[in-house]
Amino acid sequence: MKNIEHIGIAVKDLNASKDLFSALLNTKPYKSEEVVSEGVETLFFKTGETKVELLAATNADSPIAKFLEKKGEGIHHIAFEVEDIEAEILRLESEGFKLINKTPKDGADNKRIAFLHPKSTNGVLIEICQERV
Ligand code: ZN
Repeated sequence: MKNIEHIGIAVKDLNASKDLFSALLNTKPYKSEEVVSEGVETLFFKTGETKVELLAATNADSPIAKFLEKKGEGIHHIAFEVEDIEAEILRLESEGFKLINKTPKDGADNKRIAFLHPKSTNGVLIEICQERV
């Protein structure tokens, strides 16, 4: 795996958090994007080599809505950049990790992504991502 590509943070109110993180990071978000299939609205900030992704739910069935209900606002996932996502999925499976997505799916910010099950990673939701070409 390569660098931490981004950290995903679940928030209740995307507009309020936009102002908060703009002030915190001293930069405006460079992208906002809705992932309709996931029921998620996102905002991306660039902080050096790494990004911060704010995630808010657009409907009650969204995984983010469920996360907020269970755990409240906070860090939702950590995303590592990989060179070859298919090969990385196979490698992780052979190491005994549980994959939520055994084939990559389309994520926000022009990425193909897959999630590992937090039960196999000490409770941390890990995303692996590769730039879509
Ligand atoms: Zn992410």
